[in-house]
Amino acid sequence: MVFKLLSSEPLHDPLAAPAPTQDTTVKCTTCYMCACRCGIRVHLADSPDGPQVRYIDGNPEHPLNQGVICAKGSSGIMKQYSPARLTQPLLRKPGAERGAAQFEPISWERAYDILTERLGKIRATDPKKFALFTGRDQMQALTGLFARQFGTPNYAAHGGFCSVNMAAGMIYTVGGSFWEFGGPDLDRSKLFVMLGTAEDHHSNPMKIAISKFKRSGGRFISINPVRTGYSAIADEWIPIKPGTDGALLMALLHVLLRDDLIDHAFLKRFTNAPQLVVLDEGLREGLFAFDPDPAKGPPGDGRNPHNKLVFDKASGRILNAYPEGIADGCDPALEAPAEGYYTLADGTRVTPAFQLLRDRAATCSPQWASDLTGIPAARIEQLAHEMGHVALQQAFELPIPWTDAWGKEHPSTQARPLAFHAMRGLAAHSNGFQTVRALAVLMSVLGTIDAPGGFRHKAPYPRHIVPNYRAFNDPEMVKPNTPLNAAPLGFPAHPDELAILPDGQPLRIDHAYSWEHPLSAHGMMHNVITNAVRGDPYRIDTLMMFMANMAWNSTMNTQGVREMLNRKDAAGEYMIPFLVVCDAFQSETVAFADLVLPDTTYLERHDVMGMLDRPISEFDGPVDSVRIPVVEPMGECRPFQEVLIELASRLKFPAFTTPEGERKFKGYTDFVVNFQPQPGIGFLMGWRGKNGDEHLRGEPNPNQWEAYEKNNCVFHYTLPENMHFMRNWNQPYLDFAKEKGWRQKNDPVQLAIYSDTLQAFRLAARGQTTGRQPPDHLRARIDTYFDPLPFWYPPLEEAATDLTTYPLNAITQRPMAMYHSWDSQNAWLRQIHSHNYLHVNPQTARAAGIEDGGWAWVESQWGQVRCMVRHSEAVEPGTVWTWNAIGKADGAWQLAPGADEARKGFLLNHLISEELPFNTASGTISNSDPITGQAGWYDVRVRIRPADPDEAQETFPQMATMPAVPGVLGKAVQVLTYFAGRNAGRKTS
Ligand code: SF4
Repeated sequence: MVFKLLSSEPLHDPLAAPAPTQDTTVKCTTCYMCACRCGIRVHLADSPDGPQVRYIDGNPEHPLNQGVICAKGSSGIMKQYSPARLTQPLLRKPGAERGAAQFEPISWERAYDILTERLGKIRATDPKKFALFTGRDQMQALTGLFARQFGTPNYAAHGGFCSVNMAAGMIYTVGGSFWEFGGPDLDRSKLFVMLGTAEDHHSNPMKIAISKFKRSGGRFISINPVRTGYSAIADEWIPIKPGTDGALLMALLHVLLRDDLIDHAFLKRFTNAPQLVVLDEGLREGLFAFDPDPAKGPPGDGRNPHNKLVFDKASGRILNAYPEGIADGCDPALEAPAEGYYTLADGTRVTPAFQLLRDRAATCSPQWASDLTGIPAARIEQLAHEMGHVALQQAFELPIPWTDAWGKEHPSTQARPLAFHAMRGLAAHSNGFQTVRALAVLMSVLGTIDAPGGFRHKAPYPRHIVPNYRAFNDPEMVKPNTPLNAAPLGFPAHPDELAILPDGQPLRIDHAYSWEHPLSAHGMMHNVITNAVRGDPYRIDTLMMFMANMAWNSTMNTQGVREMLNRKDAAGEYMIPFLVVCDAFQSETVAFADLVLPDTTYLERHDVMGMLDRPISEFDGPVDSVRIPVVEPMGECRPFQEVLIELASRLKFPAFTTPEGERKFKGYTDFVVNFQPQPGIGFLMGWRGKNGDEHLRGEPNPNQWEAYEKNNCVFHYTLPENMHFMRNWNQPYLDFAKEKGWRQKNDPVQLAIYSDTLQAFRLAARGQTTGRQPPDHLRARIDTYFDPLPFWYPPLEEAATDLTTYPLNAITQRPMAMYHSWDSQNAWLRQIHSHNYLHVNPQTARAAGIEDGGWAWVESQWGQVRCMVRHSEAVEPGTVWTWNAIGKADGAWQLAPGADEARKGFLLNHLISEELPFNTASGTISNSDPITGQAGWYDVRVRIRPADPDEAQETFPQMATMPAVPGVLGKAVQVLTYFAGRNAGRKTS
């Protein structure tokens, strides 16, 4: 071994085929140590208890990670054998209080009986009294179907407190978004600008792409308040104050438009920039003028008619945007004439949408943005010029012919080698939707959408703008024993599509899709407990939570939520009468459950990452993947998928049972193979058809799982090259996508530089419509924020904060080595960090009198924490930050009482409120984006001061120690066995 260490021979070649020994076998599946879904090889050794995991490495055959694995992925073994594993169903002991973690073990049969009886009664009386909310799960196609079949609108996954601003802001503008839905084409880019991104989304693929990009000479700029992770390897770090990215983006637009650094041809043909907007007051003010003749362009879908108008400078006439406005020889105007408007035949005054953007951007000077962002005005000017230069002057053509939606054949494809990437740093603010809109518009004016070197979509995106999925919104259709007539989640395009009661109050318990947050496309999980306890708009009976640590790091106002979970009414009943928690580990939330369902790990179950939900598609075509169990479930653990199928069968949901009441599916794997929302379309798209020889669409294949298992658990369909780019307008692609069921229509997706969808809500708020209008107390709010053009406004919490008293921004990031709260239980990863510090710029810390390594109080208007401080130059002086979710409640996750995570680790969530003051009946409103309901995690303002030397040197607040629950795996027996096994003579060389 010593010689091997000294030789130049590699110790381990990650690309070498695994070499099973007589003791080991290798099985492929998909990682779930974070949400990136890399392919992995799990090496197993026999033991008297069955195969045991020996180690995990990356699968070189997998398209996503190509063999690369990160610290988390390779540490999966310590998650599998974590002492915190739950192993049997648990029922809260009679008389025990929630939070005390006092349970008795019960059988699965008893658990199913309890649930079937309780949920059956709810479904037969008032289905909305059942709420299902899930955390970072990857099976929303199934959980959403379960809720819909149950008949409750009260369903969502975690997106409302994660990144819905990123998804919605982009999708409502360009039809796709970053990460699973699209990303930067770094293979062809020359300048890469990353905003507000930590290492957690698209992690390994992004690292691989950046590595190649930098080696090939690309320039990488990161704009972020903190210089960690990706920012640390950027060629330039531009520090920015949190919540001000929108101001920067508007100032960049100011310079690009002022200096004419824009892609005119792209804007005219592929966006709504030249389309004419009505200027006159009235029902149509701010909406696009249109030709009532529907034949004047592709039909659209009712939500998105293509009968708009443009002014043709070549002929001096007003023409239909399609087909005349894109005919050869036409030159649609992007600006108004000298008098400020064009006039339609009926006298209506109109102007191109782009003129309105010009007017808006003109007010956003670099100096204005500099004062907000902390970035020098000269740097903003220079950055805009860099972007414009790369996108326009360094552009090149790829010899790939393609045909657009109007039949025009383009002999080559125009590359725009300027790529962006952004995530929660932009999204997790109450001004995030409009900030993301500003980014999407900036990308669009430079012609980078689905262009080589720019932003590229991944199937099934692009969607329509607005996608053809309305959320369930009909209170009359919440009926006993009746499925909903639409999915609980979707994309509203008009006030008529809101989920509200006849009096305008929210229909959903989380207030999603109400006038408070109309476009909350991912629901608002962060407000469920608060609203349910308040009975706002009604009380519920049962809240089922899966993989959501709502009593700790998945919630704002952690202390308050823990108290609310325990709150009782005058009759002594809990305000939320029944809490069901499904998790694989003894999280903080488990202590509050009435019923605990022990889930499996990702190594013990089947999973699907498919086109009905969140596939792992690549730029060149759709990709879906699966997990296949590599070890048996521990104890009595059962996959939540199986639990849902079982409950759906027992409750006799129509989609899961025959008219005679017999169950349709034996279990999850059978369901995945045979369930078809449309003929030929199922959860998996590979190896369909009876013989497995059809792809994308085809009859169910009884051997589909086996086909995935033989093929590295992944199916990758490579589109022909003429469908790789410009897919918003690429007719062969649009036809193909419709045929395969990814889209309902094959009409082009014009980019929404100007959003008449937002304007429709604004008109309702102003009383300029004949249809639904918001209640009076929300009119000004809708009017202000539903601006059809992007704009920057201060995060809402700022208006509710004394900024002199609380001058600092406080933010968190997920660390590279841990994902959410999952990994503080992981023996290997805990060696990287077992506690966290508050990172403070030395200048700021010294001004506050806080030493490097010293204890300090961090206070917001909502709460306070005591923690240790690290001086760090890698954070701009007005911001303090820490890693998220390393701090734990004492005893949770089976950490020993007094462990570092509880005594030295801390949670910033204690400083954040889930609500802000507002003139509602409760006096509050969600601390969220007023458009999408995205939680404003990064808006909190704080102050810092040194702790008194006499104070306890431990973090504050401290929780009562959570005892071990029955059946929890307990001490790290398997970890010891693992090493004992090696010592006992297993071959290790
Ligand atoms: S990035 Fe790491 S943890 Fe995430 S899926 Fe890939 S290997 Fe697993």
